[in-house]
Amino acid sequence: MANTSIQGRDSRLRFKYVSTSGYTSKWMGEAKKQIVILGGGFAGIYTARSLERMLRPEEADICLVNRENYWVYQPMLPEVISGSIALMDVVCPIRRLCPRTNLVMREVEDIDLNNRIVTVSPGFRPRAKKIPYDYLVIALGEVTNYYGMPGMLENAMPFRTLADAIAIRNHVIHVLEEADVEDDADLRRKLLTIVVGGGGFSGVEVVAELNNFIREVKKNYIRLRDEQARCVLVHSRARILPEMADPLALFAQKILKKRGVELILNDRLVAATSERAILKSGVEIPCKTIISTVPSASPPVLQKLDCAKDKGSLVVNTGLELLGHEGHVWALGDCASITTVSGKVVPPTAQHAVREATTCATNITAAIQGGKPSRFTFEGLGTLGSLGHGSAVAQILGVKISGFLAWMLWRNIYLLKIPGLKSKVRIGIDWFIHLLFPSDLAQMRLEHESGIKNQHFEPGDIVFHEGDLGDSVYVIEKGECEVIKEEDGVAKSVATLQAGNYFGEMALLSDVSRNATVRARTALDVLLIPKGDFNRLRQSVPAFGEVFNELARKRTSNVERER
Ligand SMILES: Cc1cc2nc3c(=O)[nH]c(=O)nc-3n(C[C@H](O)[C@H](O)[C@H](O)COP(=O)(O)OP(=O)(O)OC[C@H]3O[C@@H](n4cnc5c(N)ncnc54)[C@H](O)[C@@H]3O)c2cc1C
Repeated sequence: MANTSIQGRDSRLRFKYVSTSGYTSKWMGEAKKQIVILGGGFAGIYTARSLERMLRPEEADICLVNRENYWVYQPMLPEVISGSIALMDVVCPIRRLCPRTNLVMREVEDIDLNNRIVTVSPGFRPRAKKIPYDYLVIALGEVTNYYGMPGMLENAMPFRTLADAIAIRNHVIHVLEEADVEDDADLRRKLLTIVVGGGGFSGVEVVAELNNFIREVKKNYIRLRDEQARCVLVHSRARILPEMADPLALFAQKILKKRGVELILNDRLVAATSERAILKSGVEIPCKTIISTVPSASPPVLQKLDCAKDKGSLVVNTGLELLGHEGHVWALGDCASITTVSGKVVPPTAQHAVREATTCATNITAAIQGGKPSRFTFEGLGTLGSLGHGSAVAQILGVKISGFLAWMLWRNIYLLKIPGLKSKVRIGIDWFIHLLFPSDLAQMRLEHESGIKNQHFEPGDIVFHEGDLGDSVYVIEKGECEVIKEEDGVAKSVATLQAGNYFGEMALLSDVSRNATVRARTALDVLLIPKGDFNRLRQSVPAFGEVFNELARKRTSNVERER
């Protein structure tokens, strides 16, 4: 059958001429529809793939906006941390997964539901880009949100993305390296303590992988072989894995404990400093690594969206249409609040996101071609969680399985589910290599050591000690700290500094060690400027350097006067 399409001047207006025995459809002579999908996770990618199958290219243009040009297979991310799967083997390029979809690798900055326009961040050219749509799919997932938890933003590491997994892996290898050279026993213990917040699937899988990894590689560090490493999992309920039946969650707890993971139940992380994790019960755990998989919240761009929400998630009907914007906007995946036809609340999992994508694509197709819309009825096949080292828990179609059999099931099901033969082969090879050889220990340093950052201290925390090397300057944003000097073996508070004050410049300007100890009097938030950045700023902006030179002069003359 020969079809000829004639394209008008406006690329959005295409007309189909059907030459011989051809079909006619609703879109004949109509403007080509623009479908915009926000988010390239499970929900977004599977919607694009389904639409590519359901719609002819002449019917609609599909555009997908995502901040990365790849899709990540999140369930396998914990194995990236331990190195049993290579970094790039859990990702697939979106352009290959969805060949007919136009990928815009940008940040979604604004969604104008009234005028049907999405604004994305500028690229090389500093101008925001506007993308109009006829049909919009919102699938932006969730973010980890530490709002109201002092010090978590600065000191805890979230775990959702490939970048998070790489950062955690590098950090854990870094603390092992540091612990190996450190002489101070207290600091060594802190370096070897890892606290994970959240006993859902991702928290359990990450603590299991990290615990196995650290215990395995510790023997490669001559000075750490006899040291105790602590992996602590903090969970707010009476047992971990709330998505699973009691016996399986208890089995997982038993396995974790047997392998040396400490479980703290009915408690949760509420604050953090660079020296410790602080729990709601008041328990403090000295540590240098905090990973927190909770709490979750909507991405900021959705928080400002004016529409029906349930605890921040976008409320949709059973056809996944956004309430108030039916027929034009759909929301799905972790960012949506969905109930099935039978009224069950849909959990934020990949298996649900994939089925939601099919419903959404079917309904967009029905909106374009005419036809009966579909309603979301899927209520889950089961749940699977890996504990690493040949053990897992699984609950499939009501059957509960644990141990090695569940682990084999976990690996086979997830291998089967990952799209693309290449990824399957690569992951299969990774697992095979990991069976024969120990975990890889190489650290992949991507970022420069330096970088201006925020730090949080709780009352009584030491910012730096007298005699330490001067490696940073501090600007107080909130709170107070005191400057303490030791004279004839007696510590004396010599000054109190407040918001807007700077400190730490003396040691940097004169390249000597710290001449005083600084301790937080209240909860203290500071901006930390590392030595390299400080010197660069001083050289490039003389006025900036002058502020600190003047401060140092004043402080030196005060010290001399007191003498
Ligand atoms: C470590 C981990 C393990 C998991 N294990 C399992 C499991 O074993 N089984 C299971 O069923 N589920 C599991 N899940 C949950 C599952 O991965 C999620 O439910 C699923 O990914 C949700 O898909 P989504 O498309 O809604 O969101 P996501 O997959 O999070 O995708 C959202 C996408 O939107 C992009 N994005 C967000 N904001 C913007 C913006 N402003 N601009 C541009 N792009 C943006 C993000 O970069 C991302 O690509 C796991 C999750 C994690 C984190």
